[in-house]
Amino acid sequence: MPRVKNFNAGPAALPLPALERARDEFLDFAGSGMSVMEHSHRGKEYEAVHDEALALLRELLGVPDAYDVLFVQGGASQLFAQIPMNLVEKGRGADYLVTGAWGEKAFSEAKAATAMLGASARLAGTTGEGEGKEKRYVRAATAADLQVSPDAAYLHLTSNETIHGVQFAVDPARPFPDAGKVPLVADMSSDFLWKPVDVSRFGLIYAGAQKNIGPSGVVVVIVRKDLVAAGRKDIPKIFQLRTPAENKSLYNTPPTFGIYMIRNVLAWLKGLGGLGAMEQRNRAKAGKLYGVIDANPGFYRCPVERESRSVMNVVFRLPAEADEERFVKEAKAKGMVGLKGHRSVGGIRVSTYNAVEPAWLDELCAFMQDFAKRG
Ligand code: PMP
Repeated sequence: MPRVKNFNAGPAALPLPALERARDEFLDFAGSGMSVMEHSHRGKEYEAVHDEALALLRELLGVPDAYDVLFVQGGASQLFAQIPMNLVEKGRGADYLVTGAWGEKAFSEAKAATAMLGASARLAGTTGEGEGKEKRYVRAATAADLQVSPDAAYLHLTSNETIHGVQFAVDPARPFPDAGKVPLVADMSSDFLWKPVDVSRFGLIYAGAQKNIGPSGVVVVIVRKDLVAAGRKDIPKIFQLRTPAENKSLYNTPPTFGIYMIRNVLAWLKGLGGLGAMEQRNRAKAGKLYGVIDANPGFYRCPVERESRSVMNVVFRLPAEADEERFVKEAKAKGMVGLKGHRSVGGIRVSTYNAVEPAWLDELCAFMQDFAKRG
């Protein structure tokens, strides 16, 4: 079976050179006679990989010295609880800006975690419209949507809503909000490293690896050192961010193979020219797709407002669900997979993460033009 054009939302396509490198090194890593998976996490072979992955993250993103870069397990979902557990104090809660389903989940977990600690999580703003099954999210927030409490421990947002296809900081009209002195915490799981980011604007950034930088099982956390130092000490050690921070993310056994794959992906990314080059490539890919959608207004419809349209997850509808089913089936027959929208919203979703090749988009766009013509 030849490799397919994989538009999955996550776990998602990985760059072929990163996979080939893993294949070539699989049985005999660095001339050691064993797989990297079989090495001790305390041995020099693995440690070199771990250090290289951390160094590449710092280099690619230009992470300032005042920040720690951590590898954490449990998925981004664990961080939904772990972040409030670390950062709230009794009587000093956290603010949440909700622009889609993942923001809702983060807020919901924060409510449970803060209640345990004598604090609370507060909705500082939402762009949701309607209720229940009719709930819609079609735009990133503006300053007018947001009321931050000046004493909040932090303001949380989701930079890219994977299900709704709503993203911050694609268009200058929808920048990351200014929370004043309140630290900004961003879930960047589905758009981490899609372009350069000014890390100093954030108190904490976290991202599950399985969309843009590797396989599932690892979360990258970039956090201001003073927030780590001030974090709670009365929660279990394994949940304190200072534990990975003080132990180079080697307090206990990390997901070594996942971190190894991250190293391979980051090395590939650097070889392509880094985040500036990646931004151009990603904007071109998504631009082509939105171009086809907009050129066929009677057939394709993107529900997301123009300024908030995601460069990573392009969502759209066809005239009827039967058309969408046929679309997914015909595309699959042509080797293009992973196009079905999330079950909660339906429609089509094309995930165009870093590893998705521009040529795949050319092929998908040609198919879409033809499909619309046939109606
Ligand atoms: N946040 C966002 C924006 C996501 O897209 C996802 C996963 N799709 C998560 C959080 C949850 O990640 P995990 O499955 O790693 O817990």
